[in-house]
Amino acid sequence: MSQTAGGEPREGGLFLEPPELEGYLGLALKVDRVLFHKKTPFQELHVVEAGPLGRVLLLDGAIQLTTWDEPAYHEMLAHVPLLTHPDPKRVLIIGGGDGGTLREVVKHPGLQRCDLCEIDGEVIEAARRFMPGVAAAMDHAKARVLVEDGLAFIKKAEASYDVILVDSSDPQGPAQGLFGPDFYRDVKKALKPGGLAVSQAESCNFFGPLLKDMFGFLGGLFPLTLYYLALVPTYLGGTIGFALNSLGPDPLAARPAGRRLAGLGRLRYYTPALHRAAFALPAGYREFLSDAMARRQLGEG
Ligand code: SAM
Repeated sequence: MSQTAGGEPREGGLFLEPPELEGYLGLALKVDRVLFHKKTPFQELHVVEAGPLGRVLLLDGAIQLTTWDEPAYHEMLAHVPLLTHPDPKRVLIIGGGDGGTLREVVKHPGLQRCDLCEIDGEVIEAARRFMPGVAAAMDHAKARVLVEDGLAFIKKAEASYDVILVDSSDPQGPAQGLFGPDFYRDVKKALKPGGLAVSQAESCNFFGPLLKDMFGFLGGLFPLTLYYLALVPTYLGGTIGFALNSLGPDPLAARPAGRRLAGLGRLRYYTPALHRAAFALPAGYREFLSDAMARRQLGEG
């Protein structure tokens, strides 16, 4: 089998994601078919087919999702904050142009509107065309899909949203600013009182210094910052993290149950038990967490 590290996914070849840990560890994907390839103004986009993994969306060579395991990521990004907030009516998704997070958000019966702000219209079109099950809610009556830079969009929003979900790609290119303090100041301003924000926040195993820096400034901005994990086999290391920032509601005090939970129908990953368990972190993450996070999430003191 031919290997194409850092190159193009090729039919019948083994494609290697750009590796982490100074280039020492990477994920390999066997590609059966390349369904779509385009250099957009923002990034290089591929949709490939990969046997049991189904269809895979790659941006600049990094796996964004596979249709095999995407529910884990999208359910945990959406349902943890939406079931923590007492009554989420207005939701904003920044990024997430594949539509998976939107599909989960519109399941919440009390929702009035979900805005999705994706910088790259080509991602939206590719998901609609090649991943209809993921993009299923793009035309939902409560969804408003905008093609715009999330960094600019959020500046115009003031006390507008109950929940903001930052479903971004890795901190490079157009997504770089979505990991910085100026953006989070705008996120805070865009939240209604008692609102919550959750962001895709990589893994401490590979992005420790970036997360340490982020948790440092987030702790100064929000009354409550926590980090939680989900198991997603097709992300390097099998784990992805989320940073939760709250102006009030505490996810560890939430007791998801009853009609709001039942209204979500049959899920593939999220359970109320996982909602709590996801916030329990390994001891080795201590060096990246703030003291307040370590007290809550490692049981210190
Ligand atoms: N689940 C994915 C992951 O963690 O690998 C994220 C998926 S989603 C496809 C990420 C999206 O964020 C991409 O479509 C990208 O175009 C979008 N994005 C990156 N920077 C952005 C920005 N500044 N504003 C809005 N969307 C952005």
